[in-house]
Amino acid sequence: MNPKVEQFMAQVIAKNPGESEFHQAVQEVVESIIPFVEENPKYKHAKVLERLAEPERVFLFRVPWIDDKGDLQINKGYRIEMNSAIGPYKGGLRFHPTVNLGVLKFLAYEQVFKNSLTTLPMGGGKGGSDFDPKGKSDNEVMRFCQSFMTELSKYIGPNTDVPAGDIGVGGREIGFLFGQYKRIRNEFTGVLTGKGIEWGGSLIRPEATGYGAVYFANEMLKTKNDSFKGKIVCISGSGNVAQYATEKATELGGKVVTLSDSSGYIYDPDGINTDKLAFVLELKNVKRGRIKEYAEKYGCEYHEGKRPWGVKCDIALPCATQNEVNEDEAKTLISNGCFVVSEGANMPSTPGAIDVYLKNKILYGPGKAANAGGVAVSGLEMSQNSLRLSWTREEVDEKLHNIMKSIHKTCVTYGTENDGFINYVKGANIGGFVKVANAMMAQGYV
Ligand code: NDP
Repeated sequence: MNPKVEQFMAQVIAKNPGESEFHQAVQEVVESIIPFVEENPKYKHAKVLERLAEPERVFLFRVPWIDDKGDLQINKGYRIEMNSAIGPYKGGLRFHPTVNLGVLKFLAYEQVFKNSLTTLPMGGGKGGSDFDPKGKSDNEVMRFCQSFMTELSKYIGPNTDVPAGDIGVGGREIGFLFGQYKRIRNEFTGVLTGKGIEWGGSLIRPEATGYGAVYFANEMLKTKNDSFKGKIVCISGSGNVAQYATEKATELGGKVVTLSDSSGYIYDPDGINTDKLAFVLELKNVKRGRIKEYAEKYGCEYHEGKRPWGVKCDIALPCATQNEVNEDEAKTLISNGCFVVSEGANMPSTPGAIDVYLKNKILYGPGKAANAGGVAVSGLEMSQNSLRLSWTREEVDEKLHNIMKSIHKTCVTYGTENDGFINYVKGANIGGFVKVANAMMAQGYV
């Protein structure tokens, strides 16, 4: 490891003990940025990298709620306000039992660079709870969301901090959270994104992250004069991002053959067509069932407790969670002919897996670039709320498409190496850094 990176990371680890995901996210960024900062010492003197690794503010609070049996339950609530140099804090809320401070700090840190790449004026934040919506009734989820928002409402606002969804937080949860904010503050404002279309939401927001990851993959393919047509695609997850990545990849001519959840994956060699995808949407978003039921319905393979990366494919779209592709799985993907990885999830590839992609010079789009479509359309939702109007589906989709093209161009600008290989990791990190760093330099030591 570069000794300067090692020295920097030793400080980060000492100051943030036990937060392994946060360390991983910072290291992945500083490996690209430290050489750039060495060439641009103004950033070094202003300790921009050190400041970026320290959240501006962190809230940690108790969330008490009553379950259906009348028993009191207590969860932890968090909001990380990471960086507001270029706009109000923006980033999702995750409700999942694995949520802790380190996980949310990694997500908030990534979000700062991602939001900068979108070209929109948004700072970075992230929040959530160790609450698990799985197996809870709608009333339990509502009571939890109301208690969570009762505290969170003190810290957020349309010009301060605008949360959205993430794992475990979809349309239902955003509705309950928005209702409670409005009730407490007596304001109908764009304080959350991912809202329902009848009450301030944007068309294409549910689709945006999945579509964006596919648009980004398509831009990468274009650099090789190639496209999705006829390609076999492996997708992990079966939630929001996975569902719309499946839809767009299929629309562009790819054949999606896998989906998963935390219990296992399905392999459908005939491809997940529109009808089958409609079944998945109903299963996951309405019935809240398990992906295994897909295999039972369509008579295809189900692999309990496994991830889909052993299935032969051309394109892999990890869309479930962090560290879901390890070094060995990356090697398997490549030896099976996979040459495109576009990350719908945040940090789904381990550092070892990323090394494998880069060594083999495949087309690898890291999450902070490839999945920025979700927050980009959240930014467009904020604009529509401020303007008090709604754009059409076509208008939003076109803006999303252009933003993904622009992110790709930024990656090419900062990431093209001497032999012509586009290192999208370097490109995304430096491209995201420059705008935030310049804003921080202009605003003094805050
Ligand atoms: P959802 O909650 O809608 O879906 C998550 C999916 O991932 C589910 O299929 C879930 O399975 C699976 N999953 C979650 N945790 C694990 C785990 N530990 N191991 C295996 N599978 C797991 O979330 P989203 O689709 O919104 O988010 C997916 C990823 O995309 C996350 O990394 C998120 O941060 C990222 N992302 C999301 C954005 C958005 O707009 N929603 C924007 C940018 C990034 P199960 O049901 O069994 O838990």
